[in-house]
Amino acid sequence: MFKQQPILGIVVPCYNEEEVLELTVVELDAVLAGLEKEGLVSPESFILFVNDGSRDRTWPLIADLKERYRRVSGLNLAGNVGHQSALLGGLMTARRHADCLVSIDADLQDDVRVIRDMVLRYREGCDIVYGVRSSRQRDTWFKRTTAEGFYKVMEGLGLRIVNNHADYRLMSRRALDELSRFSEVNIFLRGMVPMLGYQTGIVYYERLERAAGESKYPLKKMISFALEGITSLSVKPIRMVTAAGFAVFAVSIVMAIYGIVSNLTGRAVSGWSSLIVSLWFIGGVQLLSIGLIGEYIGKIYREVKRRPLYIVERELPPAVRRRGEGA
Ligand code: UDP
Ligand code: MG
Repeated sequence: MFKQQPILGIVVPCYNEEEVLELTVVELDAVLAGLEKEGLVSPESFILFVNDGSRDRTWPLIADLKERYRRVSGLNLAGNVGHQSALLGGLMTARRHADCLVSIDADLQDDVRVIRDMVLRYREGCDIVYGVRSSRQRDTWFKRTTAEGFYKVMEGLGLRIVNNHADYRLMSRRALDELSRFSEVNIFLRGMVPMLGYQTGIVYYERLERAAGESKYPLKKMISFALEGITSLSVKPIRMVTAAGFAVFAVSIVMAIYGIVSNLTGRAVSGWSSLIVSLWFIGGVQLLSIGLIGEYIGKIYREVKRRPLYIVERELPPAVRRRGEGA
């Protein structure tokens, strides 16, 4: 299954990356040439640039690179669909021609030298190899803290994601085939890939500065990405509303007892008891109802995703021949 000389595809989503693409192609092409020379990957290995509806000259540039580099291929998306969807589109297209795929950003922030380590882990039998940043020293204080907070929240929600791993990873053909069975529209690949449950490996690297151009992930996009990650993977936030409903309901009972007692002992201003009791009661009932409706929406949400219920890691067929088979 794990070929000694796999066809390796490198998938690169690009959005307005005209400034950096020339550099990127040189680096990636050199990596593939080196791996080929060592006999680690097949000479049919390739690079796929996915143009995610860029508004600059990215696509004509990709077409031009294809003419100049035999390993380069291109995929032009009709419009800007965002990093995650563009990457998925690239992976789903390229998996047909490769034994394993590496996904990497166009900006050379992820050290291309570890692609070799990824391939070695693949040849050892890993279906998924995560590129993990060995430190976040180069990040701003802000990005570091928000990222840490994000991982804490994900962990608290019981979601399995690999810390300090972005979308720099290798996946085998069969892992990609299984990923294609996730028919959800809200995708957060970092959360979906660990669900595959195949044998994984990790390679560490130092993340560098962007080689050229600027980040396509401004703060606004980062926040919506984090929210997307949480809500597209988990229905726990809905559970929290239900829990809050129960809590308020419990308080309403305490308040009711307190209201009645103060009414009976004549310590309350007239009208206060009934007011405060109904206030808490209604509040509790409402929150609880919202939570309950949320539970059903959560069920619908999981249902419409039509995620595969199981993924087969390996099948060991019986040694006995079935009737009518062979001699
Ligand atoms: N990207 C994309 N579509 C988008 C935004 C970004 O395909 O709508 C690509 C971009 O070209 C790059 C990768 O996603 O290859 C990561 O973007 P960027 O490097 O700007 O993010 P950062 O590293 O700053 O988080
Ligand atoms: Mg980047």
